[in-house]
Amino acid sequence: MPPGRQPRIGEPPPLPRVGRCDPYRVTVGHWHRMTILSHHVFSIHLHYIPPTPPFTKGRTQPCTSKKDGECWCNHKKRGPGRWHGWLAVQVEGYPKPRLLGLTPAAARCDLRFSDAGYDLRGHVIEVKRLTEYFNGEMEARLLDRVENPGALMREPCMWAVVMRLYEAGDRDAGDNPFHKVGGISQVFRTGEKGQ
Ligand SMILES: [Zn+2]
Repeated sequence: MPPGRQPRIGEPPPLPRVGRCDPYRVTVGHWHRMTILSHHVFSIHLHYIPPTPPFTKGRTQPCTSKKDGECWCNHKKRGPGRWHGWLAVQVEGYPKPRLLGLTPAAARCDLRFSDAGYDLRGHVIEVKRLTEYFNGEMEARLLDRVENPGALMREPCMWAVVMRLYEAGDRDAGDNPFHKVGGISQVFRTGEKGQ
């Protein structure tokens, strides 16, 4: 280091590079069974942004602050965001961990889902969609643990795989030109405070 120079200190580490973790699609009508890899439910708040030019599709993006004025999106216009939970799960016949999204009602089906002191890893979970709507309400039940939890896949870095999911959603949206204007980082930088 040349004399008189100071190292950069105090910056948070970058997100780890992770592979894509596919969401598991819970369809209506029957119970879907899988094994939980996460220790706890990973929860975030989401804002839905309806299609506005130049975007032809609506987008769902994470809330970045409880306070209006600090989040990238205007809470007075959009509301405080809606809660959404994620669990990494192992699905029989699928070689990689997947992400199971939990609605607030599903996450309230068992107090252990929100108990920070309770380890969910290894439990079998069953979920069911209650309405035809792809995002509709769900029911969940927590069953016993599998016999050999040591043989389960590792839990992925939830923060990294969930954030990647929302970025990928924008990239993969076909006619959605969101990525062409800089993707998630552009929106977070620019915000919509003036609206
Ligand atoms: Zn927000």
